Amino acid sequence: MKPKVFITRKVSEEITQKLGEVCEVEMWEEEDTPVPRDILEEKIKEVDGLLCLLTETIDKELLTQAKHLKVVSNMAVGYDNIDIEVANQQGVMVTNTPGILTETTADLTFALLMATARRIVEASDYLHQGEWKTWSPMQLTGQDVFGATIGIVGMGRIGEAVVKRAKGFGMDILYHNRSRKLETEKQYGVIYVELDHLLRESDFVVILTPYTSETKNLIAQRELALMKETAILINTARGGIVDEKALYQALKGNEIWAAGLDVFEKEPVSLQKQLLTLPNVVTLPHIGSASINTRIRMAQMAAVNLLNGLTNKSPVYSVV
Ligand code: NAP
Repeated sequence: MKPKVFITRKVSEEITQKLGEVCEVEMWEEEDTPVPRDILEEKIKEVDGLLCLLTETIDKELLTQAKHLKVVSNMAVGYDNIDIEVANQQGVMVTNTPGILTETTADLTFALLMATARRIVEASDYLHQGEWKTWSPMQLTGQDVFGATIGIVGMGRIGEAVVKRAKGFGMDILYHNRSRKLETEKQYGVIYVELDHLLRESDFVVILTPYTSETKNLIAQRELALMKETAILINTARGGIVDEKALYQALKGNEIWAAGLDVFEKEPVSLQKQLLTLPNVVTLPHIGSASINTRIRMAQMAAVNLLNGLTNKSPVYSVV
């Protein structure tokens, strides 16, 4: 009998065909709407494999109902949407898609940094709203990127890819990480510092750690208060790493200069959110890995991980 799998969002025919050679495949056919929780609860009871996105919360309640489940293949590098401990206890393998999205996410991180520093969104709105009457010396002036100091919190795959871009912009590079990255220090001349030091010295603070119990609210009121008044915070990792209320206060009180956010504590972010009312915040709808090629490759890798997990081969990337 073929193993049963459920895919929680519409993927290409190429993927469903590939999986269909080995598995009985069911898919939530919507492209832009997440699978409702009650349907997921129903499906999880029947399937051997699940291919899901970060929009699905794979928690204890769900995992303990999954009597046949062998593999959860997450189409993302971050897996904070999955209760790894319970998956482990239940003997469920969890896989993710690291590496292939590294450069694309680093591109977006740098794009967000540039857009925030040079007020690109604000300037474009200014023009479209008919505000542009003349050229003025200090009109829409921002912060320099070239030659500035960047502080990277989380020197992993994406952190290192951001370093390569920062080198091209002649930046001084500080980093903070759970462990020292001696090879990266040697190769790129980046300097390891404690978090407080990084916050005090950096013109750009870029968050690139995973979201874990250790990194929840890693950047809160105290940390923001350490930053320069001219500093810019960029978060392309996960929303919960930065305390959004504290960030709003820091931005509103001009304690820091601006923020660029691709991720939020709760997604999709509410339009009522105070942070969205500030002109010095550039916000994006979690598009870090959103290039056509990368998203295709992520879906392919998630499918291979699922198949390999179900057929007892090593998955390309397994978390547990
Ligand atoms: P990675 O290679 O695992 O790098 C994460 C780095 O963070 C590691 O070097 C790790 O240190 C460090 N770290 C972990 N906990 C820490 C802590 N408490 N304090 C300081 N450093 C800590 O992951 P990646 O591929 O670069 O991805 C990073 C994160 O970006 C993902 O987890 C994901 O949530 C997010 N992401 C977002 C998007 C988007 O669309 N916006 C796209 C891709 C990824 P060790 O080496 O000591 O473990």
